[in-house]
Amino acid sequence: MDPLPDPALVVLVGAAGSGKSTWATRHYAAPEIVSSDALRAVVGSGPADLDASSEAFALLDQIVSGRTRRGLTTVIDTLGLDRDRRLRYLARARETGLPAVAVVFAIEDRLCRQRNSARDRPVPAPVLTTQLKAARATLDLVAEEGWDRVVVVDQGVAEVTIATPAST
Ligand code: ATP
Ligand code: MG
Repeated sequence: MDPLPDPALVVLVGAAGSGKSTWATRHYAAPEIVSSDALRAVVGSGPADLDASSEAFALLDQIVSGRTRRGLTTVIDTLGLDRDRRLRYLARARETGLPAVAVVFAIEDRLCRQRNSARDRPVPAPVLTTQLKAARATLDLVAEEGWDRVVVVDQGVAEVTIATPAST
């Protein structure tokens, strides 16, 4: 993979268990990663405390706002499947002059289900099915949304850039 721009606003997109947080930790320093799960654990009883979601996302937005205002690399580690949110992050990148990067985790459903079931608190199978469908649909959407780079992570290993301003 060509190096990603740095600083940048990087938005991860993918179903639960598709490898987003693992990838983020491999490529970025901890303070650069803003995770809705981690923030649920800060304001709620743990990463899966859905009652804490709205406060966690409010904090996330505040952190994204502060870091991007300072031109700091910010990796948004959420499912990334909510289009309105995703487009707000893209708009924030534009406002602050940061390159906007979407990283879509397009691993095989079977592998994602395997990884999910091996985890401490697996997401229920029907929820994962919905997320996997949404992630596939999002892969087509992001290509048209105007990101400076769209990176597709396949199996967590091969990484292919499918769209750059130069190639589109
Ligand atoms: P969530 O949306 O629930 O936060 P996630 O997309 O962040 O999920 P991870 O927590 O990164 O997913 O990964 C899920 C599981 O898959 C973990 O057990 C992790 O160790 C494993 N995993 C992630 N990436 C890889 C990889 N490239 N190779 C092998 N296993 C991986
Ligand atoms: Mg994660």
